Amino acid sequence: MKLAKLNGKPEIFYSIQGEGKSIGKPSIFVRTSLCNLHCIWCDTDYTWNWESTPFPHENDAKPGYSKFKKSEYIEELTTEQIVDILKEIPCKNLVLTGGEPLLQQTELKELMAALRAEDENYWFETETNGTIIPSDEFDSLINQYNVSAKLSNSNNSVSLREKPEAYTFFSNNEKAVFKFVVATKTDLEEVTSLMRKYEISPETVFLMPEGTTADKLNEKQQWLVEACKHLGTNYTDRLHIHIYGNKRGV
Ligand code: SF4
Repeated sequence: MKLAKLNGKPEIFYSIQGEGKSIGKPSIFVRTSLCNLHCIWCDTDYTWNWESTPFPHENDAKPGYSKFKKSEYIEELTTEQIVDILKEIPCKNLVLTGGEPLLQQTELKELMAALRAEDENYWFETETNGTIIPSDEFDSLINQYNVSAKLSNSNNSVSLREKPEAYTFFSNNEKAVFKFVVATKTDLEEVTSLMRKYEISPETVFLMPEGTTADKLNEKQQWLVEACKHLGTNYTDRLHIHIYGNKRGV
């Protein structure tokens, strides 16, 4: 499996889930590399913003920022190697994240099956951008989908970010919850329109303020909470940003 590489090691770390339905839950994060989208504000751009690709990123204007060399940011491990790392960590909650984990769903399915064979108490949730339909086998092993569907503010075309069959799959799957990053009132209109179009029930939706600093999150908190009360959706913070700031591997 292709994992993101951090300080010369595969990006696997023990922390707490900072967003959405499982917020606050101690969890091991396994960060896969590769993504099929190219969100302009993505904070894990080292999983897809490779040299020689045409995608813009909001950091392009920052001094010293450049696209990533694929060979330096991917670590390829076997299922057995990943299981050996995970067995050493005293936690059974795994968050499969990325990048887009479902690009490697065959490998992740093998990983989940191997871990359950070790201990049936393993709990698996996956982050996903909601554009890829999981296989039946993957679906039978996963406990929770955190569908972080993208809006026009991501700078992905509609045809890339909105896959109707995938939306329909997740809106009908009782393990799925949706998470939308909201920066403006226009974003909110886009969310409500998607909820109507794909019959997504408000109880399964988490609205999260956009921001990679505590100040930026707090700015949007008040009006977004009011919007959640009005729509009957859930509000979610980004707990890890408050605790650690915008850092990798925590
Ligand atoms: S889908 Fe996620 S990992 Fe992929 S570019 Fe967007 S924010 Fe980044």
